Amino acid sequence: MNEVLKAVVNSVIKTPKGLLVTLKHLIKKPVTLDYPKRKKPMAPRYRGKHYLERYDDGSERCVCCGLCAAACPADAIYMEPEENEKGERRARVYEINLLRCIFCGFCEEACPEEAIFLGQEYEFSDYDRNSFIYTREQMLVPHPRKDNPFKRMFRRVRKVYGVSDRIK
Ligand code: SF4
Ligand code: SF4
Repeated sequence: MNEVLKAVVNSVIKTPKGLLVTLKHLIKKPVTLDYPKRKKPMAPRYRGKHYLERYDDGSERCVCCGLCAAACPADAIYMEPEENEKGERRARVYEINLLRCIFCGFCEEACPEEAIFLGQEYEFSDYDRNSFIYTREQMLVPHPRKDNPFKRMFRRVRKVYGVSDRIK
């Protein structure tokens, strides 16, 4: 008799109570994202894949001074200089080994030309180790391009809250 009573209590009170919890979660905003269709915007201080900036006329900002390579604690940057048709110095070879890189942002901080930045891109997994050596051609932003006004803001935020203190 006791068992029968328990079963009745379960079906009349506890089952609807459980269903109510389920229903509550059905109408709640989900905490997960339908990745990769939808992507969560990264925090402004996030440091992802590098890119090389250009001037408005399309010429490269990098003058191959080597300061970023000197600042790099992981020895991940390699470069060779050359002169362009106007006699200006630029990088003939500029490579970053992303397998060595620890995404500290020191190269960005060290650059006097504001040429190298760490962007927000994080989807660059691969099967081949050689694909992680990024060349100048791969990192240069296209020209002409749609400018992302937030890129400079990310750098400023990092300067205020991030890497600069750790360099000192
Ligand atoms: S982010 Fe840091 S480790 Fe990576 S290339 Fe720049 S300085 Fe080197
Ligand atoms: S990225 Fe900046 S610091 Fe590095 S070589 Fe070019 S100009 Fe110099």
